[in-house]
Amino acid sequence: MSLQAKPSAALGVYVHVPFCARACDFCAFYQEAPRRGDIDRYLAGISREAAATLDGRPVETVFWGGGTPGLLPAGDLRRLGEALLARLPQPPKEWSVEMAPSAVKPDKAAALRELGVNRVSMGVQSFDDALLDKLGRQHHANQIYRAWETLREAGFDNINLDLMFALPGQSREQWLADLNEAIRLGPEHISTYCLTFEEDTALWVKLSQGKLRRDVPQEAELYQLSWETLEAAGYAQYEVSNFARPGHACIHNLNTWKMTEWIGLGPSAASQFGGRRYANVANLDQWLEGINKDAPARVDEVELTPAILAADSLIFGLRMNAGVDLAQLARDWPDLDLSPVRPWTQALADEGLALLDGDTLRLTPQGRLLADRVGADALDLLEG
Ligand code: SF4
Repeated sequence: MSLQAKPSAALGVYVHVPFCARACDFCAFYQEAPRRGDIDRYLAGISREAAATLDGRPVETVFWGGGTPGLLPAGDLRRLGEALLARLPQPPKEWSVEMAPSAVKPDKAAALRELGVNRVSMGVQSFDDALLDKLGRQHHANQIYRAWETLREAGFDNINLDLMFALPGQSREQWLADLNEAIRLGPEHISTYCLTFEEDTALWVKLSQGKLRRDVPQEAELYQLSWETLEAAGYAQYEVSNFARPGHACIHNLNTWKMTEWIGLGPSAASQFGGRRYANVANLDQWLEGINKDAPARVDEVELTPAILAADSLIFGLRMNAGVDLAQLARDWPDLDLSPVRPWTQALADEGLALLDGDTLRLTPQGRLLADRVGADALDLLEG
C-alpha cells in the first residue's frame, strides 16, 4: 500500500551542503573537503535537482545543514539561495542555516539576511577550548563570541546554539559552565546533545581501542542537569534535546517529527515524499551523475506503510514533551491494528516512564532518559 505522509500538511526542504574544511572527531555526516570546482558543480546540481523536485507546492520551512553551509563564500550562498527561491511560489516561513562559528563572517551573514534566512543554528558544542580540541573542532571560544556578535549585528533574532555533553574528560561543573555561558548570551533556542560514538569516527576508534569509555550514569546526570538548568532560565523543553524561548521552537524539526513531507536536496539528503522515503547517495560525484542524467541515485528507498508512519509518529512523538495523542493516531491510521498500543502504554505508566492524560501519552523525565529504548519497543509493537 502506498500513501502520502500527511500530504495536506506543511512541506519542508532540507539542503545538504557536504563540505567541511576537515572532519570533526565525532562526526558521521557525509562531508568532504571541497576540491577545485566542487562548489560550482554542487551548486549547478542543486539548481537542477530543485527544478526536478520542487513542483510549485508551497514550502513552509527550509533547512540548510551539512557539512558546513557557512563554508561557502557569500556569493555562493547567494547562488544557492537564489536557485532555491526560483523554485518556491513564496518565501518559506522559517529558513534555517547551520553555521560553524569559524565560518561566520559579516558578508556571509548579510548575504543570508538578504535572501530571507531568518534562523541560524550555530554549532558551538562547548565554550571550553580544551574540550573543543578533544572533539577535533576547528574553532575556539573567542570565535564563538565574534560569530555571535556578527549574527546579532546582521539582525538575526532567532539563533540556536548547539551544545554537546558527556565529552571525554568533561566534569559536571564544566557542563554546567557551558550551559550557563550559552544562557548568558541569550539565544532564542538551545539544543543539547549527548556525545554519541558513531561507527568509523575518530572518537569511535578511540572508544573501541579502550582509550575512551562511556559513563552512562554520568550521561543521565548531565541530561537531567541540562533540563533543570535550561528550564530555570526560561528555555522550555519541547523535545529530548531541544529547548526554546516562547514561540521559537524549530518549525522544520517539529514538522519532520510529526511525519509531514519533506524533500532533501544534495548528496546524502533524505526525503519523505510522495509515499516513499529515501536518501540521495552520499557521494558528490555519484549524486551529480544521477542528477545530470535525470536518474537520481537513491539508496534505502522504501514505500511508506501505515505501520511505518504510525510507529514513527509514536517514536518521534514521544520524544516531544507534548507527547502523542493516541486518539489522533487511530484517526490518522484507521486501518491499522493499534490494539497493542494501549496495554503497552499502561506498562510504561506502571514503570513510571510515561503518563497517560486522557488520550495523550507523555514520557516522564525518567522515560525521556530511556527514549531510545521506548522507541525501539514502539517499533517492535507496530512494525513487528
Ligand atoms: S563541522 Fe559539522 S558536519 Fe563538518 S565535520 Fe564537524 S560536525 Fe561534521
